[in-house]
Parts: sequence; structure tokens; C-alpha cells
Amino acid sequence: MKIVCVGRNYAQHIDELKNEKPAEPVLFIKPDSAILHNKNPLVLPDFANDFHYEVELIVKINKLGKHIEEKFVHRYYDEIGLGIDITARDLQSRLKAKGLPWEKAKAFDNSAVVSRVFLPKTDFPGMQNIRFSLQKNGQTVQQGHTADMLWPIDKLISYISRFFTLKKGDLIFTGTPAGVGTMQINDIFTGYIEGREMFRVKVK
Ligand code: ZN
Repeated sequence: MKIVCVGRNYAQHIDELKNEKPAEPVLFIKPDSAILHNKNPLVLPDFANDFHYEVELIVKINKLGKHIEEKFVHRYYDEIGLGIDITARDLQSRLKAKGLPWEKAKAFDNSAVVSRVFLPKTDFPGMQNIRFSLQKNGQTVQQGHTADMLWPIDKLISYISRFFTLKKGDLIFTGTPAGVGTMQINDIFTGYIEGREMFRVKVK
């Protein structure tokens, strides 16, 4: 399986990193080796110094799809989860400055926290009406609402499927809202969808 991530899907997060609003979604891939399964501590690697958390709603693909029309996308997922797209921000900035690919800063081992639990989409009034948040050591640091996405989920997945065939079990990280920040040793991160705890990760 693979993880397809979208960058810059929330306007306030684009502003906080002083990025330009893209005309089309910014996509990148994390391999399955990037997944940090819930319950394991997060050990930060030694090749960078500034690791950022980005909480993101995750959509789990339920069947093979390619060139999916937006109106049919809803048939391709049943469940949503929550995760953290961990980013080596200092390394990413150096790569971006040189116009190089981001993978070393975005797709390294354990760079994708994925909730163990996924929730049926039928638990929610609509995919663009879901609140989620991240706490760092008990303090809320990020709050998102899917209504604020630049590309709503079905439009985004349709777009992704023009480039990448989606397979059962693939995960779509749908972008992070504002409030990203640094991870330090001993920090504990807890993620919530509509107040329900989805994951708890300790940084080692
Ligand atoms: Zn992200």
C-alpha cells in the first residue's frame, strides 16, 4: 500500500509557512515503511533537527480506482482516520530551496502516524463537516474543520486518481490546518476527531 499526501490544502496553513496558494493540489507519496503504528513510541531520526507535526484527516481507499470521476469517489471509501504527517522542516526547506524532491524530509521511516481505529464515514453528517484536532502535552495546538479545505475530499481523490492508481488499503492524507510546530523528546501527541481520541504517541 501507499500513502498519498496533499500539501497546502488549508489557506491558513499556507499563510503560516509563507507558501503560495497552489493552482492545483500539491501531492507527494509516503511508502508503507513510513507508517508508525499506534502504540509504538516515535523515535526521531538523526538526519534533521526540526521535526514538525501536521495533524491530518485520513481517508482509507476500499477498492481499486483510476481516473475516478468526482461524483463516484464516495464509492471508493468507507472509513476515515487521523494521523500526523511528520516533516523534517529544516531538511525540507533546504531541499525546496534547491528545487529537489521532498522525500527525505517527508517519507522517512515513522513519518506517518496512523490511527489504529478508523471510523465509518456514516458516523458523520458529511465529509466536509468534520472537526479534528491535535493536542501536544494536553494543550490543543491544531484545530481543523474539513469545510476549510481548498480541495474537498472527493475532488481531491478524483484528482489524485488521474496520476496514481488507488488500491484497496491506500491512505489519503488530506492536508493540515494551521498550527504546525516542533516536536521535542518526551512530548505526547493525542489526536481527536469530533472529540474522540484517535491516537496517542510519545516522542522518544
Ligand atoms: Zn502534510
